[in-house]
Amino acid sequence: MKSLWNDAEAAEHKGPLGPRVYTSRLLGRDKSLVLHGGGNTSVKLTEKDLFGQDLDILYVKGSGWDLETIEAPGFSPVRLDYIRRLAALPALSDPQMVNELATHMTRAGAPAPSIETILHGILPAKYVDHTHADAVLSVTNAPGGFERVREIYADRVVIVPYVMPGFDLAAVCAREFPKQATKNTVGMVLMNHGIFSFGEDARQAYERMIALVGEAETYLDQRKSWSMRYETKPLGSVKREEIAQLRRTLCDTAGTPMIVTIRDDEKFRAFAQHPKVGQVSQQGPATPDHVIRTKPLPMVGRDVAAYAAAYRAYFERNAAKAKEKKTMLDPAPRMALDPAFGLAAAGRTAKDAAIVAELYDHSIDVFLRAEGIGGWRALPEANLFEVEYWDLEQAKLRKGGAPPVFAGEIVIVTGAASGIGKACAESFLKRGAAVIGLDRTASITSLLTRPDYLGIECDLTDRAAVEAALERAVKAFGGVDMLVLNAGIFPASNPIQAIPLDTWHKTMAVNVEANLALMQACHPLLKLAPRGGRIVVIGSKNVPAPGPGAGAYSASKAAMNQLARVAALEWGKDNIRINSLHPNAVYDTALWTDEVLASRAKAYNLTVEQYRTNNLLKTEVSSRDVAELAAEMCGPLFAKTTAAQVPVDGGNERVV
Ligand code: ZN
Repeated sequence: MKSLWNDAEAAEHKGPLGPRVYTSRLLGRDKSLVLHGGGNTSVKLTEKDLFGQDLDILYVKGSGWDLETIEAPGFSPVRLDYIRRLAALPALSDPQMVNELATHMTRAGAPAPSIETILHGILPAKYVDHTHADAVLSVTNAPGGFERVREIYADRVVIVPYVMPGFDLAAVCAREFPKQATKNTVGMVLMNHGIFSFGEDARQAYERMIALVGEAETYLDQRKSWSMRYETKPLGSVKREEIAQLRRTLCDTAGTPMIVTIRDDEKFRAFAQHPKVGQVSQQGPATPDHVIRTKPLPMVGRDVAAYAAAYRAYFERNAAKAKEKKTMLDPAPRMALDPAFGLAAAGRTAKDAAIVAELYDHSIDVFLRAEGIGGWRALPEANLFEVEYWDLEQAKLRKGGAPPVFAGEIVIVTGAASGIGKACAESFLKRGAAVIGLDRTASITSLLTRPDYLGIECDLTDRAAVEAALERAVKAFGGVDMLVLNAGIFPASNPIQAIPLDTWHKTMAVNVEANLALMQACHPLLKLAPRGGRIVVIGSKNVPAPGPGAGAYSASKAAMNQLARVAALEWGKDNIRINSLHPNAVYDTALWTDEVLASRAKAYNLTVEQYRTNNLLKTEVSSRDVAELAAEMCGPLFAKTTAAQVPVDGGNERVV
């Protein structure tokens, strides 16, 4: 473990909070120290109030900020004298503590101060850093953890036995710290939880953290339990329908659609194939901090019903002992370990699922290193239950409000690199769906960089390419619930007697056959969609009102329209609905350059403006208008509708 301190970088962080921001970010950069809001930092500053009086303020990481990207406004200013008075109270409920901290800040609108604020307040040093370092957890959670910590650090750290985070932990630390601290003390280890370091400047506190964690790493390394080698045997491929089936069962058990991400890299497969996986994985998470996202245990294998039964039993056992009445969360697993696919991680959004996978990636290190020095020992389930069903965490879950309409669902949009397809991708993302964009254009892969978007370069007339794209789609998100058939070509105009046969074939191949092939390949996945499969066909005004010179195009769109109607007849029993929309004169697409628009307008003796709005409503139809209708057709508004054909053309006399 190396210090990442760099004088030039440090100098870029100005202002009283500059050094605090800088080293917080350094900690956040190392995922073996801090994962997804898992650590926190603080600094004690003296400021003048409005009356010129000195005021001691603890600036502590606010909730909703990650150390890696934190900025000065991410630190909540809390009155230090008040924090210290709170720490001396004999008892305080956690919701009360949260209220007291929030009402003793000096900046209205600052984020809620960290749940571990009081811990920072009672430590005397100016700068305090706190992480849930992997190496420290491997040591504290091995047999004789307490003695091992003492052996590594002697009196350089105060050691506090496990207490759930919140007021009680702060109170225990407030008592233990002065009792145990010596002139050598530079940190504090919380058993089964993490480590604190402190110092008089930001660099000192940070480099002490690096040194302390480094010593735990060395301790493990000396016992040949630091570097891990993973060996796997291939166990045959997993069919994408099997993954989609697993996701479906999981969603049904959870009562809500979820994204399932497969991580089949060697490490995950090796752990899933580990001879002791059943024992090691079934103890509990690397830190109770993970339990809200991951549940206490992963599922080993694919028997969701058995997992749910075990989870219900765990709830019953522990809820009976809880002080207040608890309502059970859904009993579905958030992780599955399987020798063939490795890890399946589930979350309400693609981001949540990715976080679950990353947490478990580090958990495997923590478990196996502890195994190397005598065996991984998680906290008893009563402690895990206490955190999982903690009032404060439950309140956080509730605060999220109603999820977006497509949360946990997955859509494929074809021709998504530009125009209507790109607008569709945006409309579905806005509604919470994970989007797979397919396009022939290479730019599709870099169209967006966000965890709920996957762009795949794919020629839809190439069946092998489509198969490969679906494999990637299911591995990324767990299934396909919705399909927007948008990709199409518009060949050069020709009267029928002059249509080249290869133009005809090409138009049919892209506008009809490619869609047929994709529908065929997606059918087994759409059948497994937790809320039923949905297909939207981006048709054309040319279906009800064909145009002269567009024989191949109009015929291909009409053929596709008829195919959609038959699909409605055949796939209704599979709870798949298919609806078409017929746009006309959508000019904000790549096809329509300013020059083309001007020449077409001139051909009709109209201005460009008149040409754009040449419809009954005298309105312009944009890609966004079409995309919004496509998204709505997949939502609750169209839940009882299949085989509909809806124009989106501003009103057209020939269609009316
Ligand atoms: Zn902590």
